[in-house]
Amino acid sequence: MKRTLKIVFGYILLSTSVSFAQPAKVLNSSELKLALQKLNILGSVLYVAAHPDDDNTAVLSYFSSEKHLRAGYLSLTRGDGGQNLIGNEQDELLGTIRTQELLTSRGIDGAEQFFTRAIDFGYTKSSDEALKFWGKEEILSDVVWIIRKFQPDVIITRFPDTGEGGHGHHTASAILAKEAFKLAGDSTKFPEQLKYVKTWQPKRLYWNGWGLQDQDNIIKIDVGEYNPLLGKSYSEIAAESRSRNKSQGVGGIGRRGENLNYFKYIDGDPAKIDLFDRVDLSWNRVEGCEKIGSLLSEAEMKFNSEDPSEILPILIEACTEMEKHKENYWIVQKKKELLDVIRSASGLWLEAIADDYSYSPGSAININAGVVNRSNYPLKLERIKVSYSTSDSLFNQNLSINNFISHNYSFNLPGDISITQPYWLNQKKDKFRYAVDDQRLIGQAENDPALTAEFVLSSKEGEINLSVPVLYRWNDPVEGERYRPIEIIPEVTINLQDKIYLFPSNDAREITFSIRNNTDTFDGKVHLKIPESWNVSPGEISISLNKRNEEKQVSFIVTPPNQAEETEFTVEVVSENKIYNKGMVTISYLHIETQTLFPEASGKLIRLETEKTISSIGYVEGSGDDIPKYLEQLGYKVDMLSDNQLENGLLKYDAIVTGIRAYNTRQRLNVINKKLLDYVYNGGTLIVQYNTGNNLTTSEIGPYPFKISRDRVTDEEAPVILLKPEHELLNHPNKITVKDFEGWIQERGLYFAGDVDPHYETPVSMNDKGENPMSGGILFTNYGKGVFIYTSLAFFRLLPAGVSGAYRLFINLISAGNHSG
Ligand SMILES: [Zn+2]
Repeated sequence: MKRTLKIVFGYILLSTSVSFAQPAKVLNSSELKLALQKLNILGSVLYVAAHPDDDNTAVLSYFSSEKHLRAGYLSLTRGDGGQNLIGNEQDELLGTIRTQELLTSRGIDGAEQFFTRAIDFGYTKSSDEALKFWGKEEILSDVVWIIRKFQPDVIITRFPDTGEGGHGHHTASAILAKEAFKLAGDSTKFPEQLKYVKTWQPKRLYWNGWGLQDQDNIIKIDVGEYNPLLGKSYSEIAAESRSRNKSQGVGGIGRRGENLNYFKYIDGDPAKIDLFDRVDLSWNRVEGCEKIGSLLSEAEMKFNSEDPSEILPILIEACTEMEKHKENYWIVQKKKELLDVIRSASGLWLEAIADDYSYSPGSAININAGVVNRSNYPLKLERIKVSYSTSDSLFNQNLSINNFISHNYSFNLPGDISITQPYWLNQKKDKFRYAVDDQRLIGQAENDPALTAEFVLSSKEGEINLSVPVLYRWNDPVEGERYRPIEIIPEVTINLQDKIYLFPSNDAREITFSIRNNTDTFDGKVHLKIPESWNVSPGEISISLNKRNEEKQVSFIVTPPNQAEETEFTVEVVSENKIYNKGMVTISYLHIETQTLFPEASGKLIRLETEKTISSIGYVEGSGDDIPKYLEQLGYKVDMLSDNQLENGLLKYDAIVTGIRAYNTRQRLNVINKKLLDYVYNGGTLIVQYNTGNNLTTSEIGPYPFKISRDRVTDEEAPVILLKPEHELLNHPNKITVKDFEGWIQERGLYFAGDVDPHYETPVSMNDKGENPMSGGILFTNYGKGVFIYTSLAFFRLLPAGVSGAYRLFINLISAGNHSG
């Protein structure tokens, strides 16, 4: 049996609802005052939408800090399918970045974060498609589960369920919220959840909509209100929070002044003036807790910002009182908040710092756990308990003011401790939904910390337990004090250079990868798991690694079959009957906590039947794509062209390709494009990949006019019609048939060309169900002695995913023109 992660839903609250990789923040007096106000309000609101950037951070901030409610944001997806504006991470790596970005947003607006298992599979116009792909029952079950766990009084959707939200995911989020609102209170629905949670019927469901100003019975809230304790309006906080979503580039400027939001009734008990009409938000809500309520009111009243510790006797008495009602939902929540307040009111600093950030199972770890009381309130340290450490140190020591006490813990981690893979990536996912076996983990934004340290403190008024994550700390000469979460990593990890290996001919090629030792010494044998039609030599390779962090390169020669074939392979390292087949990817950005993932060490092999008729390609990078890497794998010589080269160089390439959004991101193309068109005129081939119609650096991309529309074909299986089957683009060097449009992913194309000048030929047409055929996916024209091509097909997704037909078509695009060999 593996040790499972400690599961605590909504583990730390309030100031620390941010990621676990930071020490608990000590609240200043203003924040403490706010936290004290919040302790006396028992109510919650859940905001529901589809993507990380769908949240209304002003509404969340308003409910959290103005109304002192427990506020949550449920984003159905982690935003895995969008475009990454800060790096190359895609899919689940991007989803991991956005998860962390949202957690830092929540640290600013004070809300909590939840997700379902749904994967953001890219743009879809249809909520039916979204629900079909995700599995409606499964995601509905997740929403019901999160409602039952979070117990919101009010649910608010960002979108209507009628389609005006545009994206099919948006509409689906409203549909699911509406259905879950009806089902969460019904014990015959998803009864398997009732092992862990009770049913819960929220009081009302509203839509935080637009265009509602003049309608009747609309609830109006000014989320532009100013909070003097925070020195900011909620609209200002909202902009700060939203600007954390750096990978999506949705930063905003804070609004000052009135900012009205409108809420329309959808279901439940209608509100008259306030969304929390007839919801008891006082301690009367919990039976037998009047004493807690009066103690906390007293604490709020007697709070002295000059010496917050004066109210500690009252707070600790309230904490002791809460022990009597342990099981109650509100007690569980409020106790977490209260402990935060107690910690901050005494200026307590608690830390547990490990000697490294990375450990394999069974390895030695050294942790220094320490505490300092920075108030006059007499506290005693009873004991510190560190996860997996057998020594439960008893201290029984007075914490005199500003006297730092620490203790060192050295021990070996269990041999069967789980690696710290984000829980939703533990199992092979399908294309549309993450696989999570443990019901209790569903909804959680991230894993609980790998190790914690629990400090037991006592005073005359009672005992308190404060838990902190074990962290690694270092001094960055530029950034100063920094922290990283502790990660548990496999004994060996395998890092492949690529996920896709192309075989454009019968020739064998080498597949090389590195094996890294994460323990002291490691001996094992490596082999490739691969179908028999592919030949691998040698069959296995022995490796011996004697030092921690030592890496060795291992190569196998792979010979493809004679005809076109796609297959998957996995690298396995076998040692003492244990199989290791995981890689290690670290995601490191300053604005989020460092994340380490362990993807399977597997890749795709593609034997293409094609012909190479050109050799040199110049690439004009735009907002960033991986296409050059795959063109090189096909044997083309690819040069990345700088503005200078474009401006001054004699362009001698067989073809020049512009990367996605090059005409949006490269300012100089405004001037240089003339040189590119001269290059075409003199016999070159220029392929321009998709751009968006906004912020174009030039409106004259091609030799003849066309516009860039917002039209896209989002169904990756949408039928494709070959309008000109005899056209050279569909015949040279590869004969393209509709078969080549099979196995595409995510979408056909985006920002199709429109208003196309008759000089252009359009060899293909496609459309989503119920829409008109669109032929703006590929434009072709001869110009002078050369060829100009514009394509909005999603090659930037298809080539890195190893879609054979897309390769064959792309090869035809770059091979067009007068230079056929
Ligand atoms: Zn969205």
